[in-house]
Amino acid sequence: MSLADRIKDKSLFREEALIGGEWVGGEGGKTFAVTNPANGQTIANIADVGEKGALEAVSAATEAFERWKKTRANDRAAILRKWYDLILANQDDLASLITAEMGKPFAQAKGEVVYAADFVEWYAEEAKRSHGETLSSPWPDARVMTLQQPIGVVAAITPWNFPAGMITRKVAPALAAGCCAVVKPAPETPLTALALAKLAEDAGLPPGVMNVVTGEAANIGPVLTGDPRIRMLGFTGSTEIGKLLMRQSADTVKKVALELGGNAPFIVMDDADLESAAAGAILAKYRVSGQVCVAANRLLVQRGVADKFVEVLKAKVEAIKVGDGFEDGIDMGPLVHEEAVGRVEGLVREASDAGASIAAGGARLDREGAFFAPTLIDNATPDMSIVKNEIFGPVLSVMRFDDEEEAIRIANDTPYGLAGYIYTRDVGRVHRLAEALEYGMVGVNVPLVGSSSTPFGGVKQSGIGREGGRWGMEEFQETKLIVLGGIGS
Ligand code: NAP
Repeated sequence: MSLADRIKDKSLFREEALIGGEWVGGEGGKTFAVTNPANGQTIANIADVGEKGALEAVSAATEAFERWKKTRANDRAAILRKWYDLILANQDDLASLITAEMGKPFAQAKGEVVYAADFVEWYAEEAKRSHGETLSSPWPDARVMTLQQPIGVVAAITPWNFPAGMITRKVAPALAAGCCAVVKPAPETPLTALALAKLAEDAGLPPGVMNVVTGEAANIGPVLTGDPRIRMLGFTGSTEIGKLLMRQSADTVKKVALELGGNAPFIVMDDADLESAAAGAILAKYRVSGQVCVAANRLLVQRGVADKFVEVLKAKVEAIKVGDGFEDGIDMGPLVHEEAVGRVEGLVREASDAGASIAAGGARLDREGAFFAPTLIDNATPDMSIVKNEIFGPVLSVMRFDDEEEAIRIANDTPYGLAGYIYTRDVGRVHRLAEALEYGMVGVNVPLVGSSSTPFGGVKQSGIGREGGRWGMEEFQETKLIVLGGIGS
C-alpha cells in the first residue's frame, strides 16, 4: 500500500489523544479537522480533549513522575534508544505525515525525521552522563556536593513548522532527565505528534510518562501554564504567544524555556564567495517555504557587490521548483494555510507600494493550494514592515550597506535575536561581526545552525533558554546543594 493510501485509510496514526497510557477521544466526542495545505483536503479528524483532558494528562504525568524519576539512567537510556530506532525504522511513514499535514517536500520531511531522531539518540546517551559535582568546601568539617535532579512534570507546546523536531528537542531531554511530559502539538500537525507518541509507547515508555493532548489552545493552554503541578514550560512558537504564556506561568513561578520568533540578517561582505553565499541564502531562506524561525529575513549586501549578488541570487530563486510536497523533484511546497499566503501577499504589496522592487516572484501561484512564489525584493528599507517583521514566507528582502559598522547597526536594529549569518573570507571580519551581532546563534559561511549537540536559542525577544547538547538537558534539571557535616560539627 502506498504512503498516500496509508494516510487515507489512517493506518499511519491514531485520531485519539494519549493520556496516561490510554488513547482517548475528544471531550464530548469533539474533534477538529487536519487539512493538507497542498490541496485543502481534510486528512483526519482529531480528538479535542479540552480542559478536562488537559487536567487528566497533568494528573497522569504527576503520578507517573513518582516512578519515572526513580528509574536508573541506564533504563531510561535504553527506552530512548529504542524509540530512536523505531523513529528511524518508520522514517518514510513519519515523513509522509509531515508532508501531508504541513506541506514540506517529502525529501525535506525525511531530513526532519532524522533531525528529530538525533535528539532522542543524543539524550539517550546524555541520560547516563548527567551528574552533580563535589565542590571545595568552605567548612573544614563539612563536604559539599550538588545533585542534578529532574524538575518535575513539564509541558511542551510546539509549532507546526517542524512537527517532529520541535517535540523531540524538548521531550527527549526531559525524559532523559527523569521528567514526565504533557505535549500540546500545533492543531495543524497533530498526526506527527501522535505517531511519535505511538512509537514511544511501542519502545516501552511507561504509561503517563509522555502524554499528548490535542485540541483548542484556549482550553488546554491555561491548564498547562496555570497548574502548579507543572514545574516547567518548554514552548516553541511566536514571540507574541511566548509573552502570553510567560505571563500566565508567573502565578505558579514556573520555569520557562522559550524558543520564539526571529528576524535573521544574512550579511554578505564584498570579499565573500558570492556563489557560495547565494547558495547559502537559498537554503537559509526558502527551505520549508521560509517558515523557519532561523530563516534569513533580511539580506544585507555590501554595496560594491550588491548588483552582481542580486543577479546571481535572482537566477537561483527563479530556479526553485514549487509543488505538492509528494511530487518528485520539488524544492518548495505550499505555505501552511491560506491565511499565511494572504499575510505574505500583504507584506509584499506594502513593500512594493513603498518603493521596493520585485526582482523575482512576488505573487501567489495560480493553482489549487496555499502556494506563494519564491520571491526576491530589492531596494528594501529598514522602515518597511517586511523588514521589521518576521515574514515566515518565501520572501527575501535586500538592503545595501557601505561598511561593517553600518551592517552591524542594521542587523541589530530589531527586538529579535535568534540567528544571524555572515559571509566573508576575512578572518578579522569574522571575529568582529560574529561578536558584535546580538544573536544567540551566528552562522559564518554556513546557512544552517541547529544540531542535537549544540545550543539552540535566542537572545532579546527571541527567547529564553537553550535546546540541544548539555544545555538542553540542564533546562529540565534542578541543581540541589547538599552540605554534609561531620557528626557533632
Ligand atoms: P504560535 O501561533 O505561537 O503557536 C505555537 C503553538 O502555541 C501552537 O501549538 C499553538 O496552538 C500554541 N498556542 C497558541 N496560543 C496559545 C495559548 N494561548 N495557550 C497555549 N498554547 C497556545 O506559532 P506558530 O504560528 O505555530 O509557529 C510559528 C512561530 O514559531 C514563528 O514565530 C517562529 O519563528 C516560531 N518558531 C520558533 C522556533 C525556535 O526554535 N525559536 C522554532 C520554530 C518556530 P494553537 O494554534 O492551537 O493556538
